[in-house]
Amino acid sequence: EFISVSNLADVLGVRQAEFIDHLEEIGFEGVIHSHVLDAETAGLIAEEYNFEPIFETSEQDLVAAPEPEDKSHLPQRPPVVTIMGHVDHGKTTLLDWLRKSSVAASEHGGITQHIGAFSVVMPSGKSITFLDTPGHAAFLDMRRRGADLTDIVVLVVAADDSVKPQTIEAIKHAKQANVPMIVAINKMDKDNVNPEKVKQDLARHSVDVEDYGGDVQAIPVSGKTGLGMLDLEEAIVTLSELLDHRADVEGNAEGWVVEATTKKAGRVATVLVKRGTVRAGDILVAGTTWTRIKTLKNEAGTVIEEATPGMPVEIDGWREQPEAGSEVLQAPSEQRAKDVVDYRLERSDIKKLGQDTAAINVSRRETLEQRRRSADDETVEETETSTGPKLVNFIIKADVSGSVEAVVNSVSGIGNNEVLANILRSGVGQVSEFDIKHAATSEASIINFNAAVDPMISRMAEAQGVRLMNHNIIYELIDDVKAKLSEHLPPNI
Ligand code: GDP
Repeated sequence: EFISVSNLADVLGVRQAEFIDHLEEIGFEGVIHSHVLDAETAGLIAEEYNFEPIFETSEQDLVAAPEPEDKSHLPQRPPVVTIMGHVDHGKTTLLDWLRKSSVAASEHGGITQHIGAFSVVMPSGKSITFLDTPGHAAFLDMRRRGADLTDIVVLVVAADDSVKPQTIEAIKHAKQANVPMIVAINKMDKDNVNPEKVKQDLARHSVDVEDYGGDVQAIPVSGKTGLGMLDLEEAIVTLSELLDHRADVEGNAEGWVVEATTKKAGRVATVLVKRGTVRAGDILVAGTTWTRIKTLKNEAGTVIEEATPGMPVEIDGWREQPEAGSEVLQAPSEQRAKDVVDYRLERSDIKKLGQDTAAINVSRRETLEQRRRSADDETVEETETSTGPKLVNFIIKADVSGSVEAVVNSVSGIGNNEVLANILRSGVGQVSEFDIKHAATSEASIINFNAAVDPMISRMAEAQGVRLMNHNIIYELIDDVKAKLSEHLPPNI
């Protein structure tokens, strides 16, 4: 995870003295050959020299097994489905209907609790797992954390309302994530419905529905009466078979945290099993916490023996609360789990430090380059001397204070003698209504780093003409800010 300056110079094939000069040029002060760089910073420097850094995972960490190339011999697993669509088109109603038909409820007459996901078993014996949080924020948030657990998106469109802004947004998200869709044309029990218009409107938004030359299934349903719901479930199973969803039930268990909370039983997390089989007594690590499982429960609160791929299961005994979207991996022993957690905690501290310094260095490099460039400019054409640079306003929001600091540091350095980034305000947390209003009145753009955005807020920003810059990689963010600044540059003649 660390490398000395002289070793890095050797790896990159540059003379040490030259290398140290260059490091100083890009903002490292007082560098000596024995100076130790963390992996992140070293990687950044290597990229400068046109090398692609590869971060090897330390043996101290736990990692998921590589995906097998040939899955054909593995057992099928249930597909994982997320329901998306415009507000009031019936997402919650559909989920409620499905939840009532969930296996746990029907087998035990129990009441299904919200644990973040539930499975439905078809008359054929096949099952489907539904993620229980409708809407787009959850889907995006999970993906942002690297958890791409949705296999199929069910896009709900009300037959009496057709395609609406959030429908289009959902289509965009599903396409970006490369997740196939099935359309549920809902509210078919109502009188004034027009399913054909829904299909036409979808086709207009590049959803290639059946009957309009495509293969996206569009199923007329009613979440209220249950009409067509079995057809919808069958469509999901058919698509899943076509996509050939399979997973190994042997070997170390892997999964994702769907939701975590504290109950009477202590800290519990709903884990969606991705591979392997989870049983009581197993030791699992999720991010920087771990558990030796006491009990596994399904969505009806019934204790179960084991959970196989595609199944959501509530797991207790976590030392700290896991985070939704964390990867779950099985550890061979408690000691190993503890070591992995310690290692990750230590590494995340270093990483935070590394990110901060990397961010600061980049911004220094910007100013240096810009200063050089503006110095050149001044000698060529001596214009606009006294007016000073045009200020381009930004409001910065980020997930944690460390990120806010890193973003502020990197953005505040950007600019030249013509345009300059000007930070009006910065803070921790999601972008709020107030942020949008403030941005609208002060002609600012909002930088959102590493935090989910409520779709309502996105729409509000759009409506008010406020630019929302969502990023989770500092270098991309910097590029975006630079692009924004260059919009304010006078055209080159
Ligand atoms: P969501 O915002 O997409 O979760 O939508 P909801 O499930 O909350 O539904 C919004 C409204 O539409 C509620 O008043 C529901 O009762 C109604 N609704 C949902 N599905 C149907 C349906 O299939 N038929 C009828 N008639 N009404 C429905």
